[in-house]
Amino acid sequence: MNIRIGNGYDIHRLTTDRKLILGGVDIPHTHGLLGHSDADALTHAIMDALLGALSLGDIGGYFPPSDPQWAGADSQVLLKQVHQLVRDRGWHISNIDSVVIAERPKLKPHISAMRDRLATTLTIAPEQIGIKATTHEKLGPLGREEGIAAYAVALLQK
Ligand code: MG
Repeated sequence: MNIRIGNGYDIHRLTTDRKLILGGVDIPHTHGLLGHSDADALTHAIMDALLGALSLGDIGGYFPPSDPQWAGADSQVLLKQVHQLVRDRGWHISNIDSVVIAERPKLKPHISAMRDRLATTLTIAPEQIGIKATTHEKLGPLGREEGIAAYAVALLQK
């Protein structure tokens, strides 16, 4: 069996007047993430992990912020496109694991919904997707609630 591993990272700035979308789930909060698309940092980190596993570059190359086509884009649609690149090459997702770093809001109540949403997008089981949430212990920009960051790894098999 062939296996490949990839990792991804993303960070977006928190601002008022934006929805907070993480893992495709609309999470009630006073602030949301700023970005060209829906700024879903978790989904973006997962996309980069999938691309990285096959040395296909990064999401900036496929969905450039300079392209008006991706303004306000639903990152689940982008994730589906990245997954198709993986499947076109005969690879399947074994599992994904991730960490979201957010001082607020508490993400634990939303993790199950995020796993379900990502699993639906990727047509895999929620059990194949790990999502962990942690604070930044009030340290640095993440700790000051200036942004939310996410790390992801993806294991592919063929
Ligand atoms: Mg991003």
